[in-house]
Amino acid sequence: MSFSALGLAPGLLRAVAAQGYTLPTPVQREAIPHVLAGRDLMAGAQTGTGKTAAFVLPMLQRLAASERPGQRRIRALILAPTRELALQVEESVRVYGANSRRSTTIYGGVGFVGQVNALRRNPEIVVATPGRLLDHARQRTIDLSGVEILVLDEADRMLDMGFIRDIRAILALLPAKRQNLLFSATFSNEIRNLAQGLLTAPASVQVTPPNTPIALVRQLVHPVDRHRKRELLSHLVRTHAIEQALVFTRTKHGANKLAEQLWEDGIATAAIHGNKSQPQRIRALADFKAGRVTLLIATEVAARGLDIESLPHVVNYELPMVANDYVHRIGRTGRAGLEGDAISLVCVDEGPMLRDIERLLGSSIPTEVVPGFEPDPSIRPEPIRLRTGGGGGGRMPHRQAARPSPMAQKRPRRFGDRASRPGHAARAGIGNRSGRWTALPGERTRR
Ligand code: AMP
Repeated sequence: MSFSALGLAPGLLRAVAAQGYTLPTPVQREAIPHVLAGRDLMAGAQTGTGKTAAFVLPMLQRLAASERPGQRRIRALILAPTRELALQVEESVRVYGANSRRSTTIYGGVGFVGQVNALRRNPEIVVATPGRLLDHARQRTIDLSGVEILVLDEADRMLDMGFIRDIRAILALLPAKRQNLLFSATFSNEIRNLAQGLLTAPASVQVTPPNTPIALVRQLVHPVDRHRKRELLSHLVRTHAIEQALVFTRTKHGANKLAEQLWEDGIATAAIHGNKSQPQRIRALADFKAGRVTLLIATEVAARGLDIESLPHVVNYELPMVANDYVHRIGRTGRAGLEGDAISLVCVDEGPMLRDIERLLGSSIPTEVVPGFEPDPSIRPEPIRLRTGGGGGGRMPHRQAARPSPMAQKRPRRFGDRASRPGHAARAGIGNRSGRWTALPGERTRR
């Protein structure tokens, strides 16, 4: 389905084409017609799904359609958990709206006066974090009584950050008659409560995996120091906590190095990654299936499409940079009604990644320290460097921006391309940034 089939106006279609988007993403396909029809919406979609355009495009169209000359009120309010997200969303508003609408951002940690001045210039669209917006409301430097469309973006994160009271206070300042759009990656009871009080007969769209992705997989985190991971893995094999497992590393170099070290520990190991020839991969897989190899070390990409049934264990030797990939990885076990274990060896550097994964899952993963491998509390987190050593599995570090190259801007973009945020550095939070669109377990909408 094309963008034009969604009912978007020619100006917006031009803006979308100028971004190089050829097809709408699942959340765009599902949400845009509902929003254009004026309905409230509850959307399960995480960062990386194209959710921003899913609300910004139809919002711009509705604002343009009901414009009255001389109107000088804030007509659309978008609440976002962080300053970074607020800035990115406003950038999307400007890019998709070809700067035709006055917009501003309001967030904490910066001067108040500049924002007061911006508000005096009568923006039509305000993108704000809840705390600072409420400060403005209390100081009467903002008037929200003309808001026609409210968007809560990343509502689960806003609640995680303790914004629920601020959000409720803001809702009380808005006119009762308005359109409400709620976007959240996960749906806790708290989110459902909020949605119940906020949304009227909402359309619902779900493109994220359900909160519990793979019920049959037992998930466990073993905290361990970064330099003791290999020792711990050997220990788990020797003590038969792991009989046979698919082990994930982030890079090809990491996979090779680990395989060599494990051989030295006396554990039969094979590595598969993009630098291995097809016959090498087939042999490694055959050895693994025949039980001649105890640990099969793989990078993310190499593991996709591996045909291995009833795998009892998956080990995340390193957590993936992209939370979705965790779900894909652990989906290798617990298949066909069999139980499986997904064990993650997590060092102090990987805390943010673990939090992203747990946010995506909507629950925390049980943690168990293996006796003798207690983490040293004096070790400080270090940034994760992706030593590609040949490039395997190289992803952008979390929350680190990568600027699109001028070339990347020119070619048509497929959804999921890296660094494809309109005119802006792409974020690398949770989401699909791997240059492909892959269905998640339980996903309702698929390409
Ligand atoms: P979001 O989920 O809103 O953070 O968007 C993720 C990324 O996808 C952003 O960099 C967008 O520019 C990009 N994007 C959004 N819609 C599309 C599309 N239909 N085709 C290709 N890329 C898209």
